[in-house]
Amino acid sequence: MTNQISLAQGRAYLAIPGPSVMPDAVLQAMHRPSPNIYDGELIEMMPALLEDLRRVARTRHNVAIYIANGHGTWEAALSNVIAPGEVILAPASGRFTHGWAEMAEGIGAQAEVIDFGPSAPWDINRIADALRADTAHRIKAVLAVHVDTSSSIRNDIPALRALLDDLNHPALLMADCIASLGCDRFEMDAWGVDVTVSACQKGLMTPAGMGFVFFNDKAQAKRVTMPRVSKYWDWQPRANPEIFYQHFDGTAPTHHLYGLRAALDMIHAEGIEHVWARHERLAQAVWAACEAWAQGEALHLNVTDRAHRSRAVTALRLTEARGTPLREYTEFNLGLTLGIGLGMEDWDGCFRLGHMGHVNGQMIMAMLGGVETAMAALNIPRGTGALEAAAAALAK
Ligand SMILES: *Cc1c(COP(=O)(O)O)cnc(C)c1O
Repeated sequence: MTNQISLAQGRAYLAIPGPSVMPDAVLQAMHRPSPNIYDGELIEMMPALLEDLRRVARTRHNVAIYIANGHGTWEAALSNVIAPGEVILAPASGRFTHGWAEMAEGIGAQAEVIDFGPSAPWDINRIADALRADTAHRIKAVLAVHVDTSSSIRNDIPALRALLDDLNHPALLMADCIASLGCDRFEMDAWGVDVTVSACQKGLMTPAGMGFVFFNDKAQAKRVTMPRVSKYWDWQPRANPEIFYQHFDGTAPTHHLYGLRAALDMIHAEGIEHVWARHERLAQAVWAACEAWAQGEALHLNVTDRAHRSRAVTALRLTEARGTPLREYTEFNLGLTLGIGLGMEDWDGCFRLGHMGHVNGQMIMAMLGGVETAMAALNIPRGTGALEAAAAALAK
C-alpha cells in the first residue's frame, strides 16, 4: 500500500449503515433560517407530515415524535407500556435485540431473552414454547427486531403475530423497524403490530436525531393502566397535542422536520411499493456479488437463506480477521466507508455493506467494485465473477 495514491477524492459514499446517504433535497430543505415555533408554516405542516409518516409505516394509528435516536425510541416505547417488574420476551437474532432487552431491564422490567445467535433467524417453535409456558400471561410484550442491522437478519413479523393469535396470548407485539422502515416491506396494521419504533437516519434519509413511536389502541389501553409514565416519554400529549408545543414537550426539532418533509416527499413520489422493490433489486445484486466471492472460501454471507436477509444491509464474514484493513483500504483509498462487524464476537472478521435509503444502481455497482478492488489490493482470495453477477442481477 506504500506506493498507493489515494483515489478517495470526489463524492464519498457512507455505506455503513446508518446513518445512510442523505439526499441533496433533504439537506437543501434544512438550509434555511430558524422558523417561528409558535405560529405559521412549521405548525401548519405538522398534520400532513404525520399523515405521510403514518403512510410509510402503513398505519392509521398514532405516532409520537421524539428528539432522540433509535435508543431513545426504545426507551420511550417501553416506558409507556411496561411497568417495573413486568416481563418482556425478546427473541434475539443479533446485537440490537439484546440492546433493547437491556433497556427494558433498565426501566425495571424482567427480560426473558431467547438467543438464536448472530447468524440465525427466529425459530418460531422456540418462541411458541416460551409463550405456551407463560400460562399466567406474565409476558406483557414481545420485543421483535424486524431487521437486526448487526447480523442483517430479517425476521418474520407476520409469523410471530400468527403465533400470538393462535396461542391467544395477549402480549403486545412491539417491532423495531429502525433499519427496515422505507427499505423492507413493513405493514404495521395489516401485520397486527401494536407498537412500532423507528428513527429518521436510515431508510428515512434524514440526519440522525429524530425518532418515532407508532402505537395502536391496544397499546394505548395498556398505557392507561400504567402506574406512572415519565412525563417526558409520555406518548399521549405528543400524539394528541392541544397545542403544537406538546408534540415535542419543548422546542421542536425545526430543521429535522423540514428535512423529513423533503424525504417523505421523495418516498411518496417514488411510491412505497417501488421503494421496496428498488431495495429488493439492489439487494439481489449485492447478494449475487457476495455469493460469487464466497466461492473463494475466504468470505461468506452471515445469513445463508435469502428469505431471511435484510434488503438494506448485508453482513459478511471473513475466514481471516481482516475486516479492519479492508475497511481502511476502501475508506482512505476509494472514498467508500463500509460498516464494522457490529456486536460480533470475531468483529474484525466481519464487515457490513449498507445499501439503504438514497441508493441507486450505479452506487451499488460502485460499492461492490470498491470491495473487489480492496480485496485485490489486499490479496484476499475470492471467487471470480462477482461484478458480472451483480450486473446480471440488476439487468434482469
Ligand atoms: C440503528 C438501529 C438501532 C439504534 O438506533 P440509534 O439511532 O443508533 O440509537 C436500533 N435498532 C436497529 C434495528 C437499528 O438498525
